[in-house]
Amino acid sequence: MEELRVTGGGRLGPIDSSRIPRYAGAATFARLPRLDQVDRADIAVVGVPFDSGVSYRPGARFGGNHIREASRLLRPYNPALDVSPFERVQVADAGDMAVNPFNIGEAIETVQQNALDLTADGARLVTLGGDHTIALPLLRAAAERAGSPMAMLHFDAHLDTWDTYFGAEYTHGTPFRRAVEEGILDTEAISHVGTRGPLYGVRDLEDDRRFGFGIVTSSDVYRKGVDEIVDQLRQRIGDRPLYVSVDIDVLDPAHAPGTGTPEAGGITSRELLEILRGLRGLNLVGADVVEVAPAYDHAELTGVAASHVAYDLVTLMADTLTPATPAPITEDH
Ligand code: MN
Ligand code: MN
Repeated sequence: MEELRVTGGGRLGPIDSSRIPRYAGAATFARLPRLDQVDRADIAVVGVPFDSGVSYRPGARFGGNHIREASRLLRPYNPALDVSPFERVQVADAGDMAVNPFNIGEAIETVQQNALDLTADGARLVTLGGDHTIALPLLRAAAERAGSPMAMLHFDAHLDTWDTYFGAEYTHGTPFRRAVEEGILDTEAISHVGTRGPLYGVRDLEDDRRFGFGIVTSSDVYRKGVDEIVDQLRQRIGDRPLYVSVDIDVLDPAHAPGTGTPEAGGITSRELLEILRGLRGLNLVGADVVEVAPAYDHAELTGVAASHVAYDLVTLMADTLTPATPAPITEDH
């Protein structure tokens, strides 16, 4: 079947849902073209079907395609930010990385290399997980491209700064401790947002503070409100290159049941989107949305939430990128 696409600003846009129903055909993120259908992308959305680093419920390996399916209803204009991201820059779906499920070390190397390959021409990545293990190689690649340690916002119910788990250094509970140890994060500009739930002991928090992390708890978001939190986060980030990592379990299980380690008392999808929109204008160099486990989802709640989070991350990136002169479009893909 012919793919009738919306083109605007000289970009190859999503399939035109006024002519081909949005539930028809194979899913790409927001019905965008595949990377092989465009000359190059300014922003690539890529999946990492990997969940061999989880400590509780498995299933996040299916997260990327679940988010793509749930993203069919996304439309090309983002009124909250007054931006048409797919007209402003070329956005494309780069498909999935082929990652070894039986060897975490090799998987991490594959993700890092693929991320470097995809960003070799200056493209920025929004990655759909996958479990949170993949944040480490994504951060390594983003820091290499940024050329300096980065600021980071980590949205999560959990700290993910354990040292080891069952003796393993590379799991979904350890990526941010490893990243600090590797010197790829600017420890004056890293924060967790949305943390809550019981810990093993107060030592978890003491360790975390020692690494430099600021903490905005889920309770802080509720008690202080979005505007104050955004001010606090922006002050800490300054003008540094910023990476944003979103573990979907930052949302309350009522908003995101489809995840591996749910904790009660989370923020709402509205609060998360409002905080993200508050980051407008910052130099967002990379982002991920991880830990979507569709087997535990209901009525696509988690998939829809994750797809909107990814859409706002793409919009924030597109908003700050200077549009290049577009290449001529071929309509016959
Ligand atoms: Mn988590
Ligand atoms: Mn996490």
